[in-house]
Amino acid sequence: MRLTLDDLAVEVRFSTRRKTVELTVERDGSLTVRAPLGIEAEVLEGFVRDKQLWIYTKLAEKNALRQPEPAKAFVTGEGFKYLGRSYRLLLVDEEDVPLKLEAGRFKLLRSEVGRGRDHFVAWYKAHALPWFRRRVKLYAPQIGAEANRVEVRDLGYRWGSCGQTGGVNFNWQTILLPAGVADYVAVHEQVHLRAPNHSPEFWTRVERVLPDYKQRKEWMAANGAGFVGV
Ligand SMILES: [Zn+2]
Repeated sequence: MRLTLDDLAVEVRFSTRRKTVELTVERDGSLTVRAPLGIEAEVLEGFVRDKQLWIYTKLAEKNALRQPEPAKAFVTGEGFKYLGRSYRLLLVDEEDVPLKLEAGRFKLLRSEVGRGRDHFVAWYKAHALPWFRRRVKLYAPQIGAEANRVEVRDLGYRWGSCGQTGGVNFNWQTILLPAGVADYVAVHEQVHLRAPNHSPEFWTRVERVLPDYKQRKEWMAANGAGFVGV
């Protein structure tokens, strides 16, 4: 059995001999819960939910230990993601801005290669903000609430967050995901304006807007990590 909580996918193994619930972060970063057979799904979910912060801490530790992803070299032909698609990089000698996406290619000024990452992060941030603003507006009537502020920033391990004062925040890396998945993040955070916790009511509200939200969520849990970073 597989349990999905926000962006976490947990493999559940039941055992008749087991009396307690135990959660393990495996070597490859996957999550396994071992539980007594017959345990209620809600109890199991509550257990994982309570451990969420611990899980993120463990995953962060593992990530720090893992061999770093080969850093981008910013050479012609290298692929960079944007809204789920990969665009090849082309180094150019002249351009009005350091970086732009044009005719299906990212064009980076050759003299700016040393600051390539900064330019990409700035580009993603600049494009994520209007994109999320549009999506927030688009879904607001169905959700019955509109965020009074939309911000794009570095949110570490989170794709998005909902502020205390009616604003929503998105990780700039969320714009690398396919649009349908980024949409799910936009809806998820804005639904929090109506239902702060991940209660059954919260998920009902999400489902009303995105009937296939579970697939998007599962996609994110399975593939999201491969989409981040520059
Ligand atoms: Zn949430």
